[in-house]
Order: sequence, then structure tokens, then C-alpha cells
Amino acid sequence: MFFKSSKINEFRLWGLLLTMIGMGLMVLGTAGIVFWGQSGKIVAAIGLVTGLVAMLGSLAIYFWAGMLSTSAVQLECPECHKLTKMLGKTDRCMFCKTILTLDPSQATITAEELEHKTTV
Ligand SMILES: [Zn+2]
Repeated sequence: MFFKSSKINEFRLWGLLLTMIGMGLMVLGTAGIVFWGQSGKIVAAIGLVTGLVAMLGSLAIYFWAGMLSTSAVQLECPECHKLTKMLGKTDRCMFCKTILTLDPSQATITAEELEHKTTV
């Protein structure tokens, strides 16, 4: 976990970052031809290939995230009462970043306790 966000959001972020890097590399590679002419073609080739690989990687991440989100559990966040999805037994709410868990042994507070706390 690099960022304090839900797993699905993190997958999307990495997918987006890889797409940006891939596109950036392809643009830079093409710009190499413009700036250095003949010798820039090698730079362009490297840039295009690595850019393509990065974009394919991002596609794979997007695909994977899509697969994961179909198996994600949809639930109402007890903190902000928005409909969120969680992956695995522990994940963060997509909206308020509250750590949610399905494992009672890992929970610090139960739904009943939270209900009681918010109503009091
Ligand atoms: Zn929430």
C-alpha cells in the first residue's frame, strides 16, 4: 500500500500512471527524431517500445482491476454511509478512507458499537 486509498482506486491510479508514462515515452521518442534526426531514431525506437510495453501493462492492470471489482463485496460504509466496494477481508472505503474489515477478530469496533457511538 503506497497510498492511503482503497485497493480498487489504487489499481486505477497505477493503470493511469502507466498510461501516462507510456504516452510520455512515445511522445518523447518521436520528439527524438525531430531534435536529433537520424541518430534520434534509436531513441525513438526505444521510447516507442518501452512506451508500448507500459501501455500494455496499464491495460493489464485495468483488466485485472475490472476482474477484481466484479468479485468485490459491495457494502454501505458505516462511516460515511456511501456505497463502497472492498477487496479481500480488509480494505479502505473509496470515499472516506476508513479502514473496513469483514474479519471480526481484526475489527476494533463492531457495527453495533459504531451505531451506538454515532447515535449518542
Ligand atoms: Zn466511507
